[in-house]
Amino acid sequence: METVLPSLIDKHNRHLNYLRISITDRCNLRCLYCTPHDGLAKLKHEEILTYEEILRLATIAVNLGVNKIRLTGGEPLIRKGVLQLLPSLVSLPGLKDISMTTNGIYLKENLENIKSAGIKRINISLDTLRRERYRKITGYDGFEQVWEGIQLARQLGFNPIKINMVVMQGINDDEIVDFARLSLNHPYHIRFIEYMPSGFADQGTHLHHVPNSAVKEQIITSLGKLVKVLNTEIDGPTDRFRLEGAPGEIGFISPLTHHFCQVCNRLRLTASGHLRPCLLSDQEVDLKTLMRAGASDNDLEQIFLETAKNKPRAHRLVSEHCGSLSGQMSAIGG
Ligand code: SAM
Repeated sequence: METVLPSLIDKHNRHLNYLRISITDRCNLRCLYCTPHDGLAKLKHEEILTYEEILRLATIAVNLGVNKIRLTGGEPLIRKGVLQLLPSLVSLPGLKDISMTTNGIYLKENLENIKSAGIKRINISLDTLRRERYRKITGYDGFEQVWEGIQLARQLGFNPIKINMVVMQGINDDEIVDFARLSLNHPYHIRFIEYMPSGFADQGTHLHHVPNSAVKEQIITSLGKLVKVLNTEIDGPTDRFRLEGAPGEIGFISPLTHHFCQVCNRLRLTASGHLRPCLLSDQEVDLKTLMRAGASDNDLEQIFLETAKNKPRAHRLVSEHCGSLSGQMSAIGG
């Protein structure tokens, strides 16, 4: 008889079925809100998980009930050989959804292969539609490259194509309506993300979030009514809407003003092989060292179960007014 493994359920009865895997801590951009003020610390090659190790851990997670995986980073498309990893992940039995979050700089040349590997959904981070501002936010003159990548993704039938905008007061909040308007003419899902203060990136930049309630208000005032779109099982915490008659959607992810810890279903595997049950807590387990010391699949399963069980009930960014994201986002994967 086939053994049925226990699932990843925590003490607060949340079912953790979503694993975000950071493929690399390295990134080709230096986004204001993500890059530490003193530059990105880079892990050595031997410090990051090999593709075999990633596949082994992903397989264990899927056997324990994970049915959604997102590849992130750093920038996933800059790690050599990442496209060869995709088919083995896509074919894990039980996995319902696999997607990738990218800054889009190398999207165009990789899209055909991403598609033939079986990935249909893609998230692109884009915080401005203005070329010069893009350079200021990311440190690289790459707006055209990203935009062409988005258009090609559409031609190739990726669906949905999500465009993630981190809204920052005085930096790009004058483009909220322009981004929302994109959903009127294209089938893109525009997602407004509240900027999360980061202990590493904040110093010297003094970035401030804009509450999504204000973002929403601006959109309604300029473009009209937002119609609620019902969330599906794999949607996560996005609050989804559509402008009347629009082919695209508008979504709000509000980690600060409506923190969604009570429905958080995520686990993260960092580039260095640490299993992290909450983005905003430093609690994590070093799976890489255990694996390299000979841990069996059964040992690793037990650690997944234990880590899931002890997922913090809620993050403290809001409740303690002093919290910030510690650790480098590029290594954890946003
Ligand atoms: N390089 C890829 C990219 O740019 O999409 C993947 C990694 S990036 C860390 C993943 C996501 O984290 C992006 O959508 C980014 O906008 C988001 N992010 C990074 N730092 C953030 C912060 N301080 N607040 C809110 N979102 C953040």
